[in-house]
Amino acid sequence: MFLKRFFPVLLVLLFVGGVVVWRQPQSVDRVSRTALIMGTVVDIQAYGDDEKQLSRAVDAAFGEMTRLERLLSRHIPESDISRLSEAVGGIELSSETVGLLEMGQKVSRQSSGAFDMTLGAVKKLWNIEGENPRIPTAAELSEALAGTGPSALTIAGNKVTKTRPEVAVDLGGIAKGYAVDRAVNVLAQAGVASATVNAGGDIRLLGGKKGEPWRIGIQHPRQADGLLVTLRLQDRAVVTSGDYERFFEQNGQRYHHIFDPATGKPARQCQSVTVVAAGAAHADALATAAFVLGPVAGLNLLEGLPDVEGLIVGADGRLFKTSGLPE
Ligand code: FAD
Ligand code: MG
Repeated sequence: MFLKRFFPVLLVLLFVGGVVVWRQPQSVDRVSRTALIMGTVVDIQAYGDDEKQLSRAVDAAFGEMTRLERLLSRHIPESDISRLSEAVGGIELSSETVGLLEMGQKVSRQSSGAFDMTLGAVKKLWNIEGENPRIPTAAELSEALAGTGPSALTIAGNKVTKTRPEVAVDLGGIAKGYAVDRAVNVLAQAGVASATVNAGGDIRLLGGKKGEPWRIGIQHPRQADGLLVTLRLQDRAVVTSGDYERFFEQNGQRYHHIFDPATGKPARQCQSVTVVAAGAAHADALATAAFVLGPVAGLNLLEGLPDVEGLIVGADGRLFKTSGLPE
């Protein structure tokens, strides 16, 4: 079973700048749009009383996310990340890409390497997002892991150098959150004060909803239409990493896309991790890191960071939450 995703009932298909955008009936105080970007259903809801202004702002936010897909996607050969993955020696990248790599390196260090942006070769072996996912051999995995880890990338100014030419960089665990942050930034700059941006479970909230906190339901990792918890939040990012979205099953075992860098195999200690933080990129990387670390070390990581809260579902279904998350 691959990407399991509920596609909203779509009324009108409109092609806007190469992005398929579905326009749903607009009530006066809200513009709501859905688009397929970064292989993910992205939903933006913007509230206000000027429908034209909201509509322009939402289009610009989708445009920004599409720009970032072109900059950061492993699926686009000309992207910074594809050029870095193919590079033999050092390579000059945009300062935006370098800034994101530095943010990821910081989470790598904080998580003792559990968050690792250099697992592109491992991801390619498993091919979980492709047609024929497979379980790689031990020899293939050890080859794919060589030269990876927190010190695999050396950054000097905008020049990035890999330990080995074979190292492939993959920002699947942080760049979606970054694109969500940038979309919210574009909405705010366009004068929108109340909005949500949701890219496949990486959510960022702008303001509140009509002066109240938003009510965000966190999906239960084992009950497709069940909620684990409902959080009331505003001006926060809430990001979930789980083993129930992109996976395949073989011999009764679930193989998902969040890898333990120590083994190159799917991490086994959690079912899902939800992180609440100021920014979605940071929450995105922390959720992936905590998922790999497991409930105890993962909770320690989140508890030790200022202005970060989290909720972890262990492999056995038990719930663990940071002290600042309400009961
Ligand atoms: P998260 O838990 O946030 O991240 C899991 C992802 O992070 C994995 O898919 C892998 O990419 C990476 N990862 C795995 N283990 C680790 C680890 N230990 N440390 C750090 N990272 C790890 N999907 C498509 O199907 N088609 C596309 O064309 C496509 N283009 C994309 C372009 C961009 C710029 C981005 C950011 C994503 C794109 N994706 C695409 C989606 C991507 O392949 C992942 O499925 C997605 O980013 C996973 O996000 P998540 O929040 O579900 O999982
Ligand atoms: Mg994520």
